[in-house]
Amino acid sequence: MVTDSDDAPPTESPIRSELRRVPSLVVVNTGDGKGKSTAAFGIALRALGREWRVRVIQFLKSGDWKTGEEEMLTRLGAEWWSAGDGFTWDSTDMESSKQLAIVAWRSAAETLRTGSHELLVLDEITYAMTWGWISTDEVVDAISNRAPTVSVVLTGRNAPGAIVDIADTVTTMVDTKHAYHAGIAAKRGIDY
Ligand code: ATP
Ligand code: MG
Repeated sequence: MVTDSDDAPPTESPIRSELRRVPSLVVVNTGDGKGKSTAAFGIALRALGREWRVRVIQFLKSGDWKTGEEEMLTRLGAEWWSAGDGFTWDSTDMESSKQLAIVAWRSAAETLRTGSHELLVLDEITYAMTWGWISTDEVVDAISNRAPTVSVVLTGRNAPGAIVDIADTVTTMVDTKHAYHAGIAAKRGIDY
């Protein structure tokens, strides 16, 4: 526990000697503010730098257009799957979006079971759970019983309580201000 107050430089080492090492972690980035996916891709970047095998599955984003993060992280060796067929409000067939999410989840569960990658990013997976497209219980079960070397990052608003419960690290992004609310369009290089 860090005992130093925040208004002075720390005088005690914040590193606890009794800390233990674990083979993998579960990280959740949730909340209404910007930064959930970008923080997940920041971890992917670190993992690639450590020669980890990285797999990203995007549950909502379309494979039609390539984002900056997909462009760069695939170049660095990440395996990438945009399983969504676009934004749901563009979707001509909601049922096909749901089917894609189910197929994506089955494949994610396989990665968790086999340990084929050291990092699995499940981007925007919370929506698939809250909309009832995939079972939260199944996700909890697959993560809890995963191959011990697979770290998992889950992103999306309103992370279910059961997911928060099994996670090691949960960050809730707060929407203090967002350009969109001032009528500014998503910016290439910043937002995608
Ligand atoms: P990012 O991908 O930038 O880290 P995010 O993953 O936290 O954002 P998403 O809900 O996945 O947020 O939304 C992705 C897109 O929506 C991005 O273009 C992002 O800038 C934008 N966005 C994120 N949060 C907000 C917000 N509170 N209001 C409006 N737009 C937002
Ligand atoms: Mg996101």
